[in-house]
Amino acid sequence: MALEKEIATLRQWIKESSNIVFFGGAGVSTESHIPDFRSQDGLYNMKYKYPPETIISHTFFERRPEEFFRFYRDRMLYPDAEPNKAHYALARLEQEGKLRAVITQNIDGLHQKAGSRNVLELHGSVLRNHCVRCGKSYTLEDVVNSKTVIPRCTCGGIIKPDVVLYEEMLDDDLMSRALDYISAAQMLIIGGTSLVVYPAAGLVRYYRGNRLVLINKSATSMDSEADLVIPGKIGEVLDQAVNG
Ligand code: NAD
Repeated sequence: MALEKEIATLRQWIKESSNIVFFGGAGVSTESHIPDFRSQDGLYNMKYKYPPETIISHTFFERRPEEFFRFYRDRMLYPDAEPNKAHYALARLEQEGKLRAVITQNIDGLHQKAGSRNVLELHGSVLRNHCVRCGKSYTLEDVVNSKTVIPRCTCGGIIKPDVVLYEEMLDDDLMSRALDYISAAQMLIIGGTSLVVYPAAGLVRYYRGNRLVLINKSATSMDSEADLVIPGKIGEVLDQAVNG
């Protein structure tokens, strides 16, 4: 089987580690049928009137909320998505006391749905929403089921997803906790991310160990620095390494 040797090394390293940190992105959820941004069939290769980074920016949300929400509902909400083997394998490693934290750029909540408890969601979550006027909280279901394209609070304000849009700042406290986990990690597994979205991607530079594992279908800027590169599907790779 392809990648057998690399997966065997990963299995061995996992066995020997008690302080693993995982850093991931949209590629972790493609096996749950949520498209990523930069794969060939990802969002960036679909044609829209505006590029996705324009539509999911703060300015666009403020100026053209209706178009923002049309895109957001069509392309970013997957309320029926289920975790895949990657999410479950990581949850198992946490339960076994080996994995300290999942640091994710994803906004889909699937790590928690698979049972992971310590999940640092750098870009927020579609599961949490709040009214921009009065601050009232709303669920994903409230947004999905709202009768109008722009979801409205009982006070009339717009309900905004707690997702970090382009032009918005990342949470300082979360970033510093992520940095602490990464810099103290014995083993860092990076997976399913193109590592081009900053500042999140810059965090992996703080890893100081010698077991940097990269699991990604396509090449990334960190390949040359990784101790182990596994160019496979992350669900299959992690499942074989953790459960095999
Ligand atoms: P990206 O789309 O830029 O890159 C995804 C990477 O994952 C690509 O390099 C691709 O080759 C790889 N990949 C895809 N499927 C894979 C698989 N099954 N196994 C291994 N590798 C696989 O994603 P990014 O780096 O996370 O940056 C995009 C931004 O988009 C993030 O900020 C994130 O918030 C957001 N986003 C989130 C979701 C989600 O929550 N599921 C979905 C799309 C985009």
